[in-house]
Amino acid sequence: MKVLQDLSLTELQDLMQKFGEQKFRAKQILDNINLAKPISEYSNISKELKEKLLAEFYDTPLKIHTVLQGKDGTQKFAYELADGNIIEGVLMNYKYGNTLCVSTQIGCRMGCKFCASTLNGLARNLTSGEILSQVLVVNAYLGGKKDRNRAITNVVLMGSGEPLDNYDNVIKFIHLLSAPEGLNISPRNISLSTCGIVPNIIKLANENLPIVLTISLHAPNDTLRREIMPIANKYSVKQIIDAAREYFNITGRRVIFEYALTDNVNSTPECARELAKLMHGFPTHVNLIPLNEVEERELKTVTRKKAEQFANILESLGVSVTIRRTIGEDIGGACGQLRNKIIKNQEV
Ligand code: SAH
Repeated sequence: MKVLQDLSLTELQDLMQKFGEQKFRAKQILDNINLAKPISEYSNISKELKEKLLAEFYDTPLKIHTVLQGKDGTQKFAYELADGNIIEGVLMNYKYGNTLCVSTQIGCRMGCKFCASTLNGLARNLTSGEILSQVLVVNAYLGGKKDRNRAITNVVLMGSGEPLDNYDNVIKFIHLLSAPEGLNISPRNISLSTCGIVPNIIKLANENLPIVLTISLHAPNDTLRREIMPIANKYSVKQIIDAAREYFNITGRRVIFEYALTDNVNSTPECARELAKLMHGFPTHVNLIPLNEVEERELKTVTRKKAEQFANILESLGVSVTIRRTIGEDIGGACGQLRNKIIKNQEV
């Protein structure tokens, strides 16, 4: 079975031609897709066309499985895919709108020491339509396009998985999501976070997509980075910074660096000073995230005071920095936590 949501308007039009249907049917199908309707519930196409579609495509590629409501307004979603796999996402309410965090893979093979998503390795890549469907179903859940204020305004590729390890599907997803005939979310409102797959950062820079690039650095030197992120054995901090600079040179867009503060590992004043040195020479911003502690992991978070001290050092050295407010802590906000819980319960 295939995923209908993988198809762009042009591809849907080709499909209609193959089925011997009129071209305008493609737009009618897309209108249903935008509302996250299963094929069986399309009301504006013939029964015959529905049957042809259902013979090739999943009725729906993904459904909401669980919704957890956090005290701070954050909502965590678990989705069930057509093949039974579970993935997850988080919806965050900010002053400027609703941001949905989407997963790009089922699990992850990057092996970062602090992250829950990678505990069981990678199950498989998500298709572009499966990534898109996370946005579609939550958008519909919030009242869809009828109430624009409640619909999703921003999307971050910061859920489970490494987006640049599923490159083609992720790029197609960004095109589908930003298409005028789709949800029409501007690439400027889409952020992609990577652990630093250098060749694909350069490839991304040349896609001519004005998205926000975020790099998960988490350590200012190779020795420390290798302790917490296996990808650091493949690409050095210098290679990552060079790639970020090139990304800026090509796109004109500043690069954001994420730095999860872990007690006694990467949060010393020396680390701050070393990090500040890396941030010079091109427009950057550092997002400090007090580590969201993961049950299965030993790493501990830092106090608010320590995070502020770290931020102050960066600031005094001319680095643009914010401490990200930790949200959704009561509902397992960090990557992979909810999915792991559901999988565990299924095993029992
Ligand atoms: N694979 C991509 C995107 C997914 S993770 C990446 O590495 O960037 C999104 C961000 O959350 C990354 O910066 C990641 O390092 C961070 N993260 C993962 N687990 C975390 C935790 N327990 N606490 C704080 N940040 C975490």
